[in-house]
Amino acid sequence: MQKNDIVKVKIEDIGVNGEGIGKVEGYPLFVKDTIIGDVAEVKVMKAKKNYGYAKLMKILEASKDRVQARCEFARNCGGCQIQEMSYEKQLEFKEKKVKGNLERIGGFDREFIESIMEPIVGMENPFAYRNKAQFPFGISKDGEIITGFYAGRTHSIIANTDCALGKSVNQEILELILKFWKEFHLSVYDENTGKGLLRHVLIRYGFKTDEIMVCFVINGVKIPHTKELVSQLSQLKGMTSITFSTNQKNTNVIMGDSYQVIWGQSYITDFIGDIKYQISPLSFFQVNPIQTEKLYRQALEYADLKGSEIVWDLYCGIGTISLFLAQRAKRVYGVEIIPQAIEDARENAKINQIDNAEFYVGKAEEVLPAYYERYAKEHSGEKATADVIVVDPPRKGCEESLLRTITEMEPKRVVYVSCDSATLARDLKYLCENGYRLEKVRAVDQFPMTVHVETVCLLSRK
Ligand code: SAH
Repeated sequence: MQKNDIVKVKIEDIGVNGEGIGKVEGYPLFVKDTIIGDVAEVKVMKAKKNYGYAKLMKILEASKDRVQARCEFARNCGGCQIQEMSYEKQLEFKEKKVKGNLERIGGFDREFIESIMEPIVGMENPFAYRNKAQFPFGISKDGEIITGFYAGRTHSIIANTDCALGKSVNQEILELILKFWKEFHLSVYDENTGKGLLRHVLIRYGFKTDEIMVCFVINGVKIPHTKELVSQLSQLKGMTSITFSTNQKNTNVIMGDSYQVIWGQSYITDFIGDIKYQISPLSFFQVNPIQTEKLYRQALEYADLKGSEIVWDLYCGIGTISLFLAQRAKRVYGVEIIPQAIEDARENAKINQIDNAEFYVGKAEEVLPAYYERYAKEHSGEKATADVIVVDPPRKGCEESLLRTITEMEPKRVVYVSCDSATLARDLKYLCENGYRLEKVRAVDQFPMTVHVETVCLLSRK
């Protein structure tokens, strides 16, 4: 296969970045904008030794699962990857991906996986699910101020105020800001020169409270005509918090280190289950609250708490899972590496009057082993134990040293929440070789139209 070859290929799978994958005489080609089942004419753009990248020229036979994208920018925008695949097929694909990794990397046999896998949890409406978006501002080729999303892997802005994954009110807010910026001849930031005022607008939405937050990220310390801007924005129904954050660094990091309130409160409120959260411009919060609630309810069901248990929630973030579990446990210990997230977790515990959750800042793979050793020293050799341990690590999964301590503490159940089924499978293999049995696995679709999938698993001690 060589560059510029034009070939016909049938797409059989989807890669980690969302491209279709098909083989030509055993040679895999990655083809963006194709979906499983398409037969396409493609042009090879890059031919490596064992695989290549090709560009879609023409769909020869459309897959039966191909649908019209809801958003006209679906192919160029970096946000969605599989909008042209029917939602049922997306769910099937994600479930298969989890099963495939458990089989290939985890070494579990197919029949066993089929017997313990519960049906994937999808969304009733797989659009407008995001409660947060950060919109970059820039100048179009024609010199107009625009906002929208970055095209895949670039920093060129696709002008679009109507993202299908966000709330429709975003459009109203962005159009108002665009109009205002033009009317008052204000500037927008240019990454190349480092000049210009407005970099991004962050919008957050409380799904259960309908409260709205707008935060302007600016390359400066004030917005001219703030009074006028605020008087327009604050009239929108639900507007609760208007702030700005100064970011004068030449960096890809969006937010500055702090923010200032220019109208209303410094935070909005939202709920996951019965737990209330105060969300400020800089706090972390799950972006799909509807599916997060389903995911954490499933984790809670797997934890099967009766009220007397000692529970650890490792990689606890702002304590979402910890506080969910604390309502049904004797005591919950949360561990998280980011100090600000732990401050939020403590604050969240307080506003919900939960006093049986304790939080520690540090690496899970350091805090838990240190606790285990210290406990033995202080209790003349007696082992520290736990009833249930929950982990929700980032994509790289858990360090083996942490998994070892977990197995040494011999909890009755381990609940593993994962955003990467490959590292999940690796870690499950370790746990199953060291005293645990995989009982249940369930995928949850937190990010429809993208290739991401969350998985929650229950393991019990043999
Ligand atoms: N369950 C959490 C979200 C988990 S996301 C919530 O509800 O908010 C994974 C979290 O792990 C992130 O908050 C990240 O900051 C944290 N993290 C990453 N590496 C870590 C480590 N080595 N030890 C502890 N926490 C870590």
